[in-house]
Amino acid sequence: MSTPLAPPVERDRRACPECGGRWVNDLKFNHAPACQIGAADDGLRIADLERFKRLHSPVFFRPARPHELKLLHAIGWPIMEEATVIVADAMQTRDAAGEHIDTIWVRALNSYREPGRARARHARPQP
Ligand SMILES: [Zn+2]
Repeated sequence: MSTPLAPPVERDRRACPECGGRWVNDLKFNHAPACQIGAADDGLRIADLERFKRLHSPVFFRPARPHELKLLHAIGWPIMEEATVIVADAMQTRDAAGEHIDTIWVRALNSYREPGRARARHARPQP
């Protein structure tokens, strides 16, 4: 008597297009230390956190950066000519004096335009 083989488990193959680092969630990937996309994303995180402080707002919209367009495509979105992302501080942790002490940086696609097509509102990509 033979034991039937279990069906193969589909591995999530989403990865950074430059370093192959595995996708974590949202636009987070486990980038290799030398990855230029990872470096660009680290710099963007710092810039976005500064912008939260400058605007005194936990949320804002901005154009997606070129490396973000690559990461969006890597997780299943179409190739985009341009896109708008909504950036949020989902934590808003403050100390007793009301000072902002921690942040969770969250980005989501708001709208995008594929080459040669009209601007579209986001719709969940099919993995
Ligand atoms: Zn990478």
